[in-house]
Parts: sequence; C-alpha cells; structure tokens
Amino acid sequence: MSDTTDQDVTVQGDGLAATIRTARTAADWWAGLTAAERRRRLLAFKHHLVAECEQLAQLISAEAGKPAADAMVEVMISVAHLDWAARNAARVMRRRTVNPGLLGLNQHATVGREPYGVVAVIGPWNYPLFTPGGSIWYALATGNAVVFKPSEFTPGVAELLARLWWRANPEHPVLQTVTGSGAVGADLIATGVDKVAFTGSTGTASKVMAQAAQSLTPVVLECGGKDAMLVAADADVAAAAASAVHGAFSNAGQTCIGVKRVYVAETVADQFLAALDDELDGVKAGADPDAPYGPMVMPQAPDAVATHLADAREHGAEVRHGGSGAIRPPYVDPIVVCDVPEDAAVVQQETFGPLLVVNRVADLDEAVTRANGVDFGLAASVFTADRAAARRVAARLRCGVVMINSALAFMAVPTLPFGGRGASGFGRIHGDEGLREFSVVKSVSRQLFDLPLDLLTLRHAPGNTDLVRDLLRWRHG
Ligand code: NDP
Repeated sequence: MSDTTDQDVTVQGDGLAATIRTARTAADWWAGLTAAERRRRLLAFKHHLVAECEQLAQLISAEAGKPAADAMVEVMISVAHLDWAARNAARVMRRRTVNPGLLGLNQHATVGREPYGVVAVIGPWNYPLFTPGGSIWYALATGNAVVFKPSEFTPGVAELLARLWWRANPEHPVLQTVTGSGAVGADLIATGVDKVAFTGSTGTASKVMAQAAQSLTPVVLECGGKDAMLVAADADVAAAAASAVHGAFSNAGQTCIGVKRVYVAETVADQFLAALDDELDGVKAGADPDAPYGPMVMPQAPDAVATHLADAREHGAEVRHGGSGAIRPPYVDPIVVCDVPEDAAVVQQETFGPLLVVNRVADLDEAVTRANGVDFGLAASVFTADRAAARRVAARLRCGVVMINSALAFMAVPTLPFGGRGASGFGRIHGDEGLREFSVVKSVSRQLFDLPLDLLTLRHAPGNTDLVRDLLRWRHG
C-alpha cells in the first residue's frame, strides 16, 4: 500500500465496509508494534502536524470561521495533547501485579489494558482539530485504528489529518477519514466498529447511543453545555469580567465549554457589569482577520440566537448589550442579558452563540444552586479570593470540570480528563482517564501452586463446608 497517494486516504461515505476492513488490518499491525515504536510513530506524526501548522490553521480558519490567531492556538493545544498521549500511553496500558487476596494466595494476578480495535471518532465543526483530536490521539496512542467522520462543515481539516498520518506512517492507514453528512456517521456505527467516540450536540448523542446499543458498542459522549461562571463578593472582578468576555464570545460563542451564564454576587454585580461594558467596548464580529471573532458557522445559528434573545425579553430580562441589531447574519455581535428567570429557555438550553446571561445572586451558595439547575453538566468556573471556598464550591458543582479564577484554561492541560455529566454526556477524554477510555481491561491470573484445601472440585472432601464456614467467620465475621 506504500504507493498510495495522499488523496487515497479519505473516502466519501460509501465503501464504509472496505474502510473498516482496512482499519482492522491496520489495527492488528498497529497493536502488534511495541509501545516504544507506536510512540515513535506518533511523535513522527506530530512533527508532520507541526510542519504543516500554517496549512492546518488556515483550514481551521476557513472552515470554522475563526480568526487566524485562534486557529493557531487550536493547533498548538492539539499538538500538546498528541505529544502527551504519545508519551504516556505505555504507562497507563502497562500490565501490573495486583494483590490476589487471601483466597487467591496461590494465584499471581495481573491487570493490563488492550486496545479496542477500530474506534469511530465522530466530531463537530467548532474546534475541528482540538475536539476530535482529544479522542483520535488517545485512541491511536492506546493502539487502536481510527476512522474519523468530521462534521460536513469541516472536511478539509480531517482530510489533511489523514494525509499527514499517511506521510508519517505509510505502511498502514491507521487513521482514516470518511466525509459526508450525519448519515455517514450513523452508517459508520452500523457497519461495525469496536468503540464510538462522539462529540456534538446532546440530541445527536442520543441517536448515536441508540444506534450503538444495537450492537452493544461502547460509546463515549462529549456533548453540549450551559457552563456557569460564579463570581464571589471577594473576587477580582476585573479578571472575572475579562474571562467572562473571552469565555462567552471567543469563537462567536460556539464553544462547548464557553461561559454561558454568570452568577455574580449582588454586592459586586454593578462593578462586574461595568467591567463587562469596558471589556466589550468596540467588540464586534467580522470578516476582518483582526476581528475578535468571526461568523456563525451554521446558517440557522443566528436565528437560534434571536429566538433565545426574544425568550429573554419575554421573561423580562434587561438587554444590556447587543439586542436585535447585533444579529447581522452570518455575524452576531456580543449580546448580554441580565436578570433572567432561571426557567427561561435562554438559561436552560444551549444557545451556541455569543449570548451571555448575567444574573445576580446573594452569595456563592445561591450561585451553586442555580449553576446546578440545568440538565447540562460540562464545566464551570468560580472566581473568588478564598481558596477554601473555591474548593467547597468545586466539590458541589455538578459537572466534569471546574476552573478556579480562570475560564477555558484547563483545555491546554493534557493531564486533566475532560467530559461531562447529565445532558453533557459521559466518559472522559484527555489525561490518564482518556487513555483508559480507549483501552479495555484484561485480567490474568496464573496458578502458582495447589492449595491444600481444593474448593474447585465436584468431589468435596468431608468437612470442607465446616472449614469454609470457619474461614468465613474468622475473616469476615
Ligand atoms: P451535531 O450533533 O450536529 O454533529 C456532531 C457530529 O455528528 C457531526 O459530525 C455530524 O455530522 C454527526 N452526526 C449527525 N447526525 C448523526 C447521526 N445520526 N449519527 C452519527 N453521527 C451523526 O453537533 P455540531 O457539529 O453542531 O457541534 C456542536 C455541538 O457540539 C454543540 O452542542 C457543542 O456544545 C458540542 N460540542 C461538545 C464538545 C465537548 O467536548 N463536550 C466540544 C465541542 C462541541 P454532520 O455535521 O455532517 O451532520
């Protein structure tokens, strides 16, 4: 297959059975390499990504509509995760001896991890490299072959990834890309893979899970969020406002862990809103490469923002920034709505656009209760000078990630697992848990010697039952 050209490494949705057959052969080859050899090849792949970082960033920018600087940051943090996964997989996968316990004292017991085989990675368009990379790198590092189905809005980034893999490792297409609509994702699961890693909306996730359930294929689901920022009375209000603006409006608010709701202590709420005003002064969406953020990617997205804005108004909210004039499809300027009842759709549902809700609360306790009052449970941030209070709040927030005195920052930390609860999905990517997510446990016991008391027999010696009873009472009574 080494004479295959770059163009041959992606397929267009049909021929999925052949793609998966190829992936199975590639998976056998890849899993059969030593861990050190896989690491070497993953790092070679990394070098190709870095060599093509400008092309990658340009594609991300063109397809996902984000400023060049943001696209390059996406490449950088993606590469950091690839590097970490490559260097840490062997440690997590390593077979280890475990204590066999009293009843198993004649057994040598070990636990190891193995790859699943072929992993289907289905990704969204908003971070077309970073988001699927959080599954692809970790699946490859643990010895799986990957078939990647990107969003139909961002096929170019995905095709380039498969080509770069091919350039680095031409023996087998361990990473393949299939392009097409959502139906291709459904067909991919139906054709038969060993694990599905899905990132996208909650609605699509339940279809993916239902499809995978038919073959009992395990899934990891990374879905949407309605992340809250909690701002305490003792917080650095200016820093919180700056983080809220970046977290809510970068990438046009199309970020799963973007800041969507702020709960700010009443005593500093006016100060926070004034700081927010300063931060937002002159911030507008635009096509200019220097614009702080670009267009909404999905054609219907500006309408979704308009619907939530209307909902906020109907619920008596104050429109502090933006308003209807901010919606200039495909662009939407920052919108801030304040004092919105918690049952409003704009509080409960993911807008996935540059619309921020700011509500006043008495204290952090009330902020936690309100933050937990939605179905989503992805990430949250808390701003306070009190470290003990921050730890207590972090423990009470019903979500997968908590950031203290920052927002979005954890994405660049490969050791931190990432994933949600409730409507935000389940399972974890990144970190040791991310490596475990893409590998399956194999337990092995090896008999060392015969026990004087043989219980694994059909011919029980007289008195065995008494001995077992005495042993049970002595050990656990
Ligand atoms: P979608 O759910 O619309 O699509 C996600 C992927 O699933 C796309 O590749 C899509 O293909 C594919 N797909 C659609 N239907 C099916 C199906 N029936 N079976 C299998 N695959 C299918 O999400 P978006 O692309 O619009 O992404 C935005 C969403 O992703 C937001 O909710 C956001 O919060 C979430 N997200 C979550 C992240 C996390 O880590 N938790 C990170 C980033 C985003 P196609 O696009 O071609 O239709």
